[in-house]
Amino acid sequence: MAEVTVENLTKIYGATRALDDVSLDFADGEFFGLLGPSGSGKTTLLRAIAGFIAPESGRIRIGGVSVERLPVERRDIGMMFQSYALFPNMSVADNVGFGLRVRKVGRAEEARRIGEALELVQLENLGQRRPHELSGGQRQRVALARAFVTNPRVLLLDEPLSALDKSLRLDMQIELKRIQREIGITTIFVTHDQDEALTLSDRIGILRDGALVQAGPPREVYGRPGSVFVASFLGEANIFDAEIEAGKLRLPGGGFARLPPGSEGAAAFALRPESIEIGPAPGPEADGFEAILIQRVYSGPVSTLIVEAGGDRFRATVKDTDLPDLVEGVPIALHWDPSALIPIPKP
Ligand code: ADP
Repeated sequence: MAEVTVENLTKIYGATRALDDVSLDFADGEFFGLLGPSGSGKTTLLRAIAGFIAPESGRIRIGGVSVERLPVERRDIGMMFQSYALFPNMSVADNVGFGLRVRKVGRAEEARRIGEALELVQLENLGQRRPHELSGGQRQRVALARAFVTNPRVLLLDEPLSALDKSLRLDMQIELKRIQREIGITTIFVTHDQDEALTLSDRIGILRDGALVQAGPPREVYGRPGSVFVASFLGEANIFDAEIEAGKLRLPGGGFARLPPGSEGAAAFALRPESIEIGPAPGPEADGFEAILIQRVYSGPVSTLIVEAGGDRFRATVKDTDLPDLVEGVPIALHWDPSALIPIPKP
């Protein structure tokens, strides 16, 4: 059963449709990642679910109950936002227990639940410390424990890890996923970091100009983008216009590629940079074209090749160790398996 249901939600600020008729179900226990360019409505959707803003129209249900008229504190949600603040003069344990004291759960119950929450975020020995005596990652765990200690139906996270440096952020992603799994709480999560969304989410939803343009499991959305926008926003994509000749796709520079299944009526075709291999096609089972190498960008294990053909630029990512001594300015052959080409349906 859907734990959170959003139906035809619209929020207007002046001339901006911050949310434009958004409908979305969040399943019980699901980790759902909201993605989209800056200004696409991610935070507005989260804040509407939380109850901080009132939408112009639409419905929101949490656990089957309509919450449009309920204030924030009665919606049974836990929250952790980017600019979360811990109470500096309270101990870690008191910070975590704040929501329990507001709910007057009783001393023994409060102590037990704080203990459990601290154990889950692996801070069981630091309950008496003050926030300033913790590292950034530890403070974030306290904020997280405070968000779920009241055992809410839904956890809303807005860029919760954005203040952390990269390695700590990767550790916290793994931690967050583990904790979410252990308590099995429905979690809706806003991030601008695609890798983070792909790693953590059971499903992702992509917003553009306030509208939901696609939702599904990360593999499906990445592998079967429904529009050029999604193909280019989620990861990188080379886009070919759908110029079909004699049942084949015309490639830049005059080559042709076979069409994958589902190509009928496609508006365009996408090809992921990592699907491309360098070198002449190994046989009739591969498709490709020749292009001039414009730039080779080294980034550790892989290199990105920027190439030009027929007046357009394309990208290929290849293992750096696979690269022969490629020199910028010379022609190289690119090829790929026919199944790598992704047909993009007409809007
Ligand atoms: P995101 O979280 O995806 O970056 P937001 O939900 O914050 O996007 O914003 C969506 C749109 O609504 C943007 O165009 C933003 O400028 C506008 N917006 C958000 N909050 C307000 C506000 N309080 N007043 C006016 N416009 C707002």
